[in-house]
Amino acid sequence: MTAYELLVSGLKQFIPEVSPQAVDKLLRFSDLLLEKNKVMNLTAVTEPCEVVTRHFLDCASLAPYIKEGQTVLDVGTGAGFPGLPLAILCPGAQFTLLDAQRKRIDFLREVADALELLNVTPVHARAEEFALLHRASFDLAVSRAVAELRVLCELALPMVKVGGAFYAMKAADCKDEVEAASHAFALLGAPAAEVLRYTVPYDGVERVLVRLQKVAQTPDKYPRRFKKIQSSPL
Ligand code: SAM
Repeated sequence: MTAYELLVSGLKQFIPEVSPQAVDKLLRFSDLLLEKNKVMNLTAVTEPCEVVTRHFLDCASLAPYIKEGQTVLDVGTGAGFPGLPLAILCPGAQFTLLDAQRKRIDFLREVADALELLNVTPVHARAEEFALLHRASFDLAVSRAVAELRVLCELALPMVKVGGAFYAMKAADCKDEVEAASHAFALLGAPAAEVLRYTVPYDGVERVLVRLQKVAQTPDKYPRRFKKIQSSPL
């Protein structure tokens, strides 16, 4: 199957109708990613079909949880995952793509300009510093492959509004990691973690979304400085 066929067929598992424009933009993003990857380290993936399965179809698992008009923060977006494919698939939501590495954010600005993505704001900042000015500001936060949950939830949850949610994309065997973070979830205002399982189409890999509904304000003392978050996770 071609990358186009994999994409169109695989997306149907998560989204009933995908516009031809969205498919075209995803494939152009794949081209820009693989081209830039020759000169900077953005992804281990080198083939268009792998970009579709390992990145786009994995990230598309979040699309059903994003509603029109919502604001979404991607914490540690790297080369734009999961936030950039989601911005293409959910044009009615606004995405802030946050990363500590300037070169990655510069690349995402180029992509957003080239694809005319008006709902994407790439931001170069550390999450724990950005959080000081953006407390309880986003309907949703999302994140993939950034840190263990005890650390990650202290970076992300302070920026989520009460009534919103944080979705962490994790490997299927994250049970111990979720249990170890239960104290942190409660302290930060999202005491009940839900584990939503899915299989990445064509890749066959089982993955989970850990959903944390924010039901109370995060105390002002979080997030702490990164050294502290890492050395004594909640
Ligand atoms: N989420 C992307 C993905 O799934 O492909 C990138 C994953 S990459 C392994 C981790 C990214 O998180 C890096 O780009 C790194 O700069 C970013 N990161 C780690 N800690 C961060 C922090 N405290 N604030 C902002 N970005 C952070």
